[in-house]
Parts: sequence; C-alpha cells; structure tokens
Amino acid sequence: MSGCSGGSCSSCSSGDQDNPDRLPPGMLARYDINQSTADGVLVWVEVERDGDSVRMPDVCAEVLSAARSMCDGRVFAVVFGGPEVKALYPEMFSYGTDTVYHVRDARLGTYQPEAYADCMAGIVERVVPAVVLMGATTRGREVAPRLAAILQTGLTADCTSLSMDGRDLLMTRPAFGGNLMADIRCTRFPQMATVRPGAFDKVPTDRTTGTALYWQYQGEVPKEVLSEEPVTEGGSDIRDARILISLGNGIRDRSTVELAESVATRMGAMVSCSRSIVEKGWMPVSRQVGMSGRIVRPDLYIAMGISGSVQHRAGMSGARRIVAVNTDPDAPIHGFADLSLITDAAAVLAAMSRMLDGKEENE
Ligand SMILES: Cc1cc2nc3c(=O)[nH]c(=O)nc-3n(C[C@H](O)[C@H](O)[C@H](O)COP(=O)(O)OP(=O)(O)OC[C@H]3O[C@@H](n4cnc5c(N)ncnc54)[C@H](O)[C@@H]3O)c2cc1C
Repeated sequence: MSGCSGGSCSSCSSGDQDNPDRLPPGMLARYDINQSTADGVLVWVEVERDGDSVRMPDVCAEVLSAARSMCDGRVFAVVFGGPEVKALYPEMFSYGTDTVYHVRDARLGTYQPEAYADCMAGIVERVVPAVVLMGATTRGREVAPRLAAILQTGLTADCTSLSMDGRDLLMTRPAFGGNLMADIRCTRFPQMATVRPGAFDKVPTDRTTGTALYWQYQGEVPKEVLSEEPVTEGGSDIRDARILISLGNGIRDRSTVELAESVATRMGAMVSCSRSIVEKGWMPVSRQVGMSGRIVRPDLYIAMGISGSVQHRAGMSGARRIVAVNTDPDAPIHGFADLSLITDAAAVLAAMSRMLDGKEENE
C-alpha cells in the first residue's frame, strides 16, 4: 500500500483529502474517477427485406425517437447489411440518429444472433454509450441477452416506458403478470433494454443527414445459413388498423370469428382478440392485443366479450375511442370504455352485419 509523505505533499494535503468541506459542493460526485464516462444511446436498427427493397421496422423508428427525446448526448445506430442499407440512412437521421455504424460484411448479410451480438459489443467498446436499446422483436429478444452477457451488464426486457436522469436510465416494464409496473435501474454501464413495439411514438424530424461510418467485424461467424424461408402469417398487421373489432372469451361460437372478419372487411377494419381466443386456437398470436401480444392504438377499438384485464388493457389503452360490448355490467372494461353496451356481443355483430348489408337501417 502506498502512503503519503506528510505535510510536504501538495496533491492531497495529507489528512484533509476526505474532508468534503475543502471542496466546492458537488465536486466529489462530479469528478468521481470510479464513475464510467459512458454517454449517449446506441440503438440496433433491424432491417426488413422484401426482395431487393429494405425497410426499417416501426419499432426501430420508435426506439430512435425515444432515444433522441430523452438523451442530451449522441444517438448512435448500428445497422447490418450491404450497400442497399444506405437507403435507410435518411430515415435513421430523421428519427434522431447522429452517427450510423454500418456493418458491411458479406458474412453478416443474413441474420446471425451470436455474431451480431459479438460485433455490437465491439462497437459498444468503441462508442462507450451509457445506454443500449433495441426493439423487443423476435430478433431483439435473441440478440440483447447475448450482448448483455458479453458486456457483463444487466438487461431489462420488454420495457413500456423509459426516461433518463442525466446518464441514468429509468426503465419501466410490467411485472407480476402485469399487476404492477416495475421501475428498474441498472447499476452498470451500459444500461440495456429492449422496448415493446408501439410503446413510443415515431417522431420524424426534417433532418436527413448525419455521419455514417463503416465498421469491419473481425470476429468469427459460427454458422452458415444455407437457406431462408419467410414465415407467412397472412394478412396485415393489427397495429396498422384504424378500427379494430376485438374478440374475447364472451364469444362462445367459433363461427362468430368468421362473422367478425366479414363485418370488419366491409367496415375497413381488422379483427384482433384477447389471449383467451388465441388459447382456444381460434386466432393466431399475431392478432393478440395486450401485454404478451401487440400494443395497438387505433382510432376505434370495439371490445366484444372482453373483460378488460390489466394484461389486455396494457395493449389497447392507447386507443382513441373504446366501445365495450359485454353482458356483465360490472366487467372492468366498462370502467375505461367511452361507450358501453350491456348486451350479447355475437348479437351485436350479427346486427352490424345486417346493417352493412343494408337490410336493417335503423338498428
Ligand atoms: C403474464 C400474463 C400475460 C398476459 N397477456 C395477455 C395479453 O397480452 N392479452 C390478453 O388479452 N390477456 C393476457 N393475459 C390474460 C389475461 O389475464 C386475461 O385472462 C385475459 O385477458 C382474459 O380474456 P377475456 O377478457 O377475453 O376473457 P374473460 O376474462 O373470461 O372475459 C370474458 C368477458 O366476456 C363477457 N361475456 C360473457 N358472455 C358474453 C356475451 N355473450 N356477450 C358479451 N360479453 C360476454 C364476460 O362478462 C367477461 O367479462 C395475460 C396473463 C398473464 C398472467
């Protein structure tokens, strides 16, 4: 252990160095040499491909917008792909990116979770961001824990809200089956989170330029992808619908699902559902609204036979107008609906169908 020579030492003025009264207020905390200098936010921007065209998923625009709005420092984006990905630069800049790290490596042209995480760890080492964010997509959920493990930091998955206090990130996510919202802080840098699609708004700006840097990945690519086949779920995305007719456990007959689809098509709407309907196998999970489903914000949400559990509400409370059709006047959904119909949901759907056929105009 090294010691101080005594009164002649000018650097610490032996005996007084622990006395906070000798320093201006706040100085000790500000110049804590053990504190990380990490700053800014780094976001992984996924690329969706359709033939030769590339697209940035909405959730990445949402995460970039959130990063820009809560962070005073720089916003970095990491993107993987060939020259075609340059088409996405203006969009990335418009959503708040200052610097794009473009990984142009033919070996990483196809998605490789292990190598993507390893490569991003290298970029994190260079950039030293205070925060690393990605969408809570299938891929984000796969890459984020790998990256957190390499960086030896914590990860808060599936956040529905984020805010920053200086360089400290406050992450909020549903806990205990959605019965409470947990605020979580990470004690290490970088602080990592995946973000629920739809949890933030996309906020484009006029800016279309910024800095783009190519990044060369030096590591191993452990897998060779022999072929890729897209999984088609069919139909559009319920998150894009302006009107949703949403079915719940109060729908007793499977044929009512077809009736709802027919009504929705004629209204320019889509059909979504609660988890009960997915569990019955009547609709795919891509149509499920809620905490473990999708977050939707339509202009009109018509809940047919849905009780309004906290988990379901977590996915639809952003709807502009909510209509509840439920036989139980005490069902929780009536507590936050704009209009309540205490009646049979299947009968309402049948009446809507007849009205759309023009058979009953005054129902
Ligand atoms: C970790 C976790 C995650 C979850 N994630 C989700 C999620 O993402 N999305 C989700 O939806 N749920 C989710 N759940 C399940 C959730 O807790 C509820 O069980 C579910 O939302 C209930 O669905 P429901 O409202 O359709 O059914 P119920 O709660 O059974 O409600 C059915 C309603 O229909 C009414 N009804 C009955 N007959 C009629 C009729 N003829 N006409 C009109 N109304 C009628 C009843 O009065 C009742 O209010 C999750 C649960 C957990 C623990």
